[in-house]
Amino acid sequence: MTTETVTPSQEVAEILLQQGGEMLRECYQCGTCTAICPWNQVTTFTIRKLIHKAQMGLVDFEDQEIWRCVGCRLCVDRCPRGVDVPKVIRAIRRVVMDVGAGVVPHALRIADKNLAGVGNPLGEPREKRNDWAKSLDVKTFTKDTEFLYFACCYQCYDSRCRAISRAAVNILKKAKVDFGILGAEQVCCGESLRKAGHESLYQSLARTNIEVFQQAGVKKILVTSPHCLHTFRDEYGEFGGNFEVIHTAQYISTLIEEGRIKPTKRLGKRVTYHDSCCLGRYAGMYDEPRQILQSIPGLELVEMRNTCQYALCCGGCAGRLWQETLKGERFAETRIEQALEIGASVLAVYCPYCMVNFEDSLLSSGKSESLRIADITELVEEAISA
Ligand code: SF4
Ligand code: SF4
Repeated sequence: MTTETVTPSQEVAEILLQQGGEMLRECYQCGTCTAICPWNQVTTFTIRKLIHKAQMGLVDFEDQEIWRCVGCRLCVDRCPRGVDVPKVIRAIRRVVMDVGAGVVPHALRIADKNLAGVGNPLGEPREKRNDWAKSLDVKTFTKDTEFLYFACCYQCYDSRCRAISRAAVNILKKAKVDFGILGAEQVCCGESLRKAGHESLYQSLARTNIEVFQQAGVKKILVTSPHCLHTFRDEYGEFGGNFEVIHTAQYISTLIEEGRIKPTKRLGKRVTYHDSCCLGRYAGMYDEPRQILQSIPGLELVEMRNTCQYALCCGGCAGRLWQETLKGERFAETRIEQALEIGASVLAVYCPYCMVNFEDSLLSSGKSESLRIADITELVEEAISA
């Protein structure tokens, strides 16, 4: 047996630290992250080893494994040293996306090009951004309007996800909420792109939105995507964008509590709820979605394995939604199995990425007859439309 000698590269390790990977220094290679990482159940990906290579400056920037981590944070709360693993991974990806080493996966390169060109990952025309709202009679936001409703790119352009923004608008109108929308000058929130490592483009998107919001006099933003929630609320402040950002999980649960909308129509379904990473581990919102579901007459809420802070990612965060994941390696397939295993007929979500991933996996599993994927916004709309 021959043993290959590798020489650590202090220079590369330094670059990774400069790109935001400072927490690399804290890792003492215990392997807890590898044990809990969901990739460990379906591939040979080992996050501990990748971190070790990064510590030594020995990352192979051409290895496609550096794009695996979905930034789900499942490992972060369990790391004895509190290492923010997604931030370390982001630093590695920045070396590829921003510094120019290595190879960007083809599908990610296309989404990135679309974001740079037309401000959305799907490559759809800017001027069609608000087509989803046609015939809904939604007013344009002005400085006297209370809330800006911001629809995620998928809720603007994806035919399945458009139903979510339309449902949100119908609920807000029923509750007589003072809200409006802005037009084609808005761009993608950029949350996933940042996790995928293209920091300079992310900052340019963030600055565009901040300018649009500030010029329009926006103070409060309602969102139906937890990805928009995370970056608008927790990251835009770095660039001077300080807004009150509220996810509809919080807002709709308050509307129900205050009696401004009343779910009266019986749904008579056994429903399970999938906690998205961004609404759950990132924003700590586990109760509100469940409270909303429990307020719907006839709805039986049942819990899957791996729920709340232990929830399994749908597999679509951090740019993975734009990349192909092999059948047998998709977390969404596991989640669908878990939902069916407890006899649920509806898998409820509160995130457009989860919606897209689950719909895809359900279709390829051939089990569309047994399970419906529904956003909670859609279920509420149905329950109040007596
Ligand atoms: S759990 Fe934390 S300390 Fe342990 S190997 Fe993973 S990152 Fe390093
Ligand atoms: S954040 Fe999630 S996907 Fe990434 S290494 Fe940790 S557990 Fe694995």
